[in-house]
Amino acid sequence: MRKDIFKADFFWPLASFSLIAMVFLLGAVFGLVRQFDLAATQREQTVVENGLLGRIEEAAQVVNTEGMWDDAVVNLDHTYNPAWAKANVSEFLWQNNGFRHSFVLDSKDGVIFAATKGDPVGLETFKAFSGFVAPLVARIRLAEQARGPFHGSYSGRLISRPIHASSVAAVGGEYFIVSVTLVQPDFGTALPKGPRAPVLVSALPMDEAFLKAFAHRFLLSNLHVDGDDTRNDLDEGHVGVRDSTGRYVATLDWTPQNPGQALLKRLIAPILTIMACLAGIVLILYRGTRRMAQGLIASEARAAHLAYYDPLTGLPNRVQFFDKLGQSLGQISRGHGAVAVLCIDLDRFKEVNDTYGHHVGDELIREAGRRLFAQCRSCDTFYRLSGDEFAIVQVQAEAKGAGALADRLVRTLAEPIQLGSGMVFAGCSIGIAVISASGVEPEEAFRQADLALYRAKASGKGQFAFFESEMDAAIKTRRALEGDLRLALAAGDLQMNYQPQVNHRDQMTGVEALVRWNHPERGMVSPAFFVPIAEECGLIGELGLFTLRRAFEDSHRWPGLRVAINVSASQLRMKDFVPRVEALLKEQKVDPFNFELEITEGLLLGDDPATHETLRRLRGIGFQLALDDFGTGYSSLSYLQRYPINKIKIDRSFISNLGWDSEAGAVVGAIVKLARALKLQVIAEGVETDVQRDELIAVGCSDIQGYLFSRPVGAEDIERLRRVPVRPARRMAS
Ligand code: C2E
Ligand code: MG
Ligand code: MG
Repeated sequence: MRKDIFKADFFWPLASFSLIAMVFLLGAVFGLVRQFDLAATQREQTVVENGLLGRIEEAAQVVNTEGMWDDAVVNLDHTYNPAWAKANVSEFLWQNNGFRHSFVLDSKDGVIFAATKGDPVGLETFKAFSGFVAPLVARIRLAEQARGPFHGSYSGRLISRPIHASSVAAVGGEYFIVSVTLVQPDFGTALPKGPRAPVLVSALPMDEAFLKAFAHRFLLSNLHVDGDDTRNDLDEGHVGVRDSTGRYVATLDWTPQNPGQALLKRLIAPILTIMACLAGIVLILYRGTRRMAQGLIASEARAAHLAYYDPLTGLPNRVQFFDKLGQSLGQISRGHGAVAVLCIDLDRFKEVNDTYGHHVGDELIREAGRRLFAQCRSCDTFYRLSGDEFAIVQVQAEAKGAGALADRLVRTLAEPIQLGSGMVFAGCSIGIAVISASGVEPEEAFRQADLALYRAKASGKGQFAFFESEMDAAIKTRRALEGDLRLALAAGDLQMNYQPQVNHRDQMTGVEALVRWNHPERGMVSPAFFVPIAEECGLIGELGLFTLRRAFEDSHRWPGLRVAINVSASQLRMKDFVPRVEALLKEQKVDPFNFELEITEGLLLGDDPATHETLRRLRGIGFQLALDDFGTGYSSLSYLQRYPINKIKIDRSFISNLGWDSEAGAVVGAIVKLARALKLQVIAEGVETDVQRDELIAVGCSDIQGYLFSRPVGAEDIERLRRVPVRPARRMAS
């Protein structure tokens, strides 16, 4: 599964995209932090620059108070009083403000007093400072000159403004703030004696204590002075310090606060956690999407398979059949020989399906498919088209080979098939179309094979038939009849005939209603032909109602005579059959006790609960139920017991052999006995001769119907026949 993830087409693009997005996000965060810190450091640099200027100014102010003082004029200008200088300049500035060196220069800028830490020292001490001091003194002299001499007398107010200059100096590996101030009177009680006054020079060391206090004031950490301006440590804040001439002296370095980094340090854990969560969510979404995509791919593959294969048998389906047929037919023109199409239909699938249920029907389809497929050669392609319909396309075929294959197929399905629920006999019918001409469409080839299949079924099932061009004509006739039947029903062009049923005394006890169609061109069309057409084309409901209505209507002519009406299986399966019949009973004001509905054995075979219910309701209403054509179907004793049947009608095929085939007599006798045992009435149809009649009476079947008594006749003839006491058929036959 893990390997699968890495193999997936869209894993790496998605992973790369997510990684790039994360790198961009982190890059953006770090970039912002860096910018934020740089801005903060720049702000700190400005603060340090201004702070240092302020500190230099403060130092100057202190020295000014000593130099701008009438006493200083008296003790340093008028006379030179070293004791005064010691007490008021060097000691005072050292003890109160930390100025380590103090010097007094005379009017000619020569040093006359030098002190270190308050105490006088040799004048040469000044030498080390002279280089820095000289430019400052020069500026002071210019300012002194610009101020001009003092005149007159001054009392009670400040008479001058301080003239001073300051700078930073590097002396002997140490750094100092050097303040130079001109000795001037403050209130004018003593005035300078000449145009140039003495000058006070004081040096405040930028030592550890100074830096500590400075750092404390401006919230700087790790502040120190560095004499090397080539080093530019990116992690530190820097402010270059220059002397009064602009010469580089030193650099003030400190560790900047870097608030961005501090914030980042706090946020990095939550950011990484969020990113890990996002990565997790992306992974989960990816896996979900992938599973969904896999599901879609699988269902697409399933749908594609279903589109081309039959899910029940796994055989190629109708779509592939037509594809292959189209291709094969297309190759005829290229000299590939003829193509044979075989349409195969199981003969008793419906019965098995109706009797045992759909799962057995499915099992039958699968097993039949297997058997049929086993008979095919490797170059024959086998398909399941729908329901119980299969097809084979044979290439380079000829009629003989196709016939041989069809024969094998029919024989293999004639064998019983063992299913989970028991043994069944399926059988199959096959229609074959051999196409040798080019240009035939696959639909046409299939239609021809289907027509041939229809013929094979019509001629008794369990057979195969080749397509012949007359079949087309037959089907065309059928289609035409369908249309005509529709018109005839609408126009009321059908009639009812009635065939008498008599007892052993030749008394007419009932009639069977038989529909007739006198076609304007074709003449009389047999109901045995057009009733199935009506069933196939959906007209049976209408035809059935017509028959019932007419039979009900005509029955008023013969009170006391029972009327048998044929009802086809498809009619009975219609949901609204019973209510429609009830409506007709009311409409025609007839009593259902006078009517017998004839159904065929095939109807019972399905053992369909709905049919069962319909028959039960019809019996409940009062109809009699007769089983028509008895003996030709597959009804078992259990059906006869289970269904509410009153009467069985022995089929004509048994009667026709009576008189010359002793076995026929035995069979009819057995049927009569069976009917008696089951307390069912029995009638024989198709009785044409006295011999047949006598033999029937001999075995105990006295109710008969047949040409011997009368052919089916019009309603008016029944009235006439009732009035005639003798057997008219004898006279008719004679
Ligand atoms: P069926 O119900 O078995 O009707 C008996 C058929 O046998 C009738 O054919 C009748 O004319 C014929 N027949 C009667 N006596 C003799 C005889 O002595 N010898 C011979 N050879 N034939 C005899 P028909 O009228 O052609 O009907 C054929 C079938 O068509 C009927 O068989 C029935 O199944 C169906 N049919 C007829 N009328 C209707 C109808 O109104 N509704 C439905 N659903 N089916 C009908
Ligand atoms: Mg009948
Ligand atoms: Mg019959």
